[in-house]
Amino acid sequence: MINGSEPGRVESSGGECLSKQAIILVHGGAWAIPDDMVEAHRSGVRNASDAGWRVLERGGSALDAIETAVLVMEDDDTFDAGRGSFLTRDGRVQLDAMMMDGRTLRAGGVGCVEHIRNPIRAARKVLDESPHVYLVAQGAEAFAQEHGIDLCANEELVVPREIEHLKEAQAKELAGKTHELFASPATSHDTVGAVALDSLGNIAAATSTGGTLNKTPGRVGDSSLIGCGCFADNESAACSTTGWGEPMMKLVLAKWAADQVMAGGDPARVAPDAIHYLHRRLHGHGGIILLDAQGRFGLAHNTPRMAWAVRTAERQDRGIKIESIPAL
Ligand code: ASP
Repeated sequence: MINGSEPGRVESSGGECLSKQAIILVHGGAWAIPDDMVEAHRSGVRNASDAGWRVLERGGSALDAIETAVLVMEDDDTFDAGRGSFLTRDGRVQLDAMMMDGRTLRAGGVGCVEHIRNPIRAARKVLDESPHVYLVAQGAEAFAQEHGIDLCANEELVVPREIEHLKEAQAKELAGKTHELFASPATSHDTVGAVALDSLGNIAAATSTGGTLNKTPGRVGDSSLIGCGCFADNESAACSTTGWGEPMMKLVLAKWAADQVMAGGDPARVAPDAIHYLHRRLHGHGGIILLDAQGRFGLAHNTPRMAWAVRTAERQDRGIKIESIPAL
């Protein structure tokens, strides 16, 4: 087994949903999840995959399933999404989210929203009800409100733990340790994401994040950018990434992985290849979940841990490191 804490090494696994039935995969961030946070991550991804699975089980769409799964993780303070997210340099929560439908290629994203408890719901509204793909800041919030989403005070999204994290980060910055803030695999990357295949054979992807700790207000990362941290096309694959966003954006990593699948690659192989590529080209680190419309999937990370869960009619597996996932 490869040790993900060694630079350049990648943990990976994958498989195939042989019954070609519905399947959902979720992640809850890739980093050095500390021992005392392991259980919260495990139960967080389990709750999310269970909720998404219940949608698929009753014949719901992949799109509805991933929205539901991500909502559960946004509502869970454990993760860097929704309430409990990292804070910007000036102490506010600023959220990004995206969803994409592999059947129609419709996509919806929101960036830099500060008053929406569940940005994935706003992303879904953009996907369903806007001629645009991406809305940011006040425009995104006004659109969400016009489409029935209540706005909240930014303070409602801030948790005490993150005020402490921000203080620590700013102390590190003063001490000149900026590398530790962004570029270390140990740096917390608790973004959430989901990919699913429904009983009609359609796939979809969703990613939601509070971004990186101590980020400059207005910064948008990979998570909500189409093809970077989120992508879905029935003809290639559905993908969600997590980790240090800037290298992923430069490599348009989710689209890169989907293109490899379209060219004939097996997602179980392509997922670790994508993480190797990320590290080889830009010394990036993070994790990826990848699923095609045949139910073949892959998960990989080069961080010490990644919270993940896979759910089908027959199986439910989850963990905080990819050791080996039994074939489905
Ligand atoms: N990729 C996210 C970002 O850079 C962070 C994460 O995955 O936790 O905004």
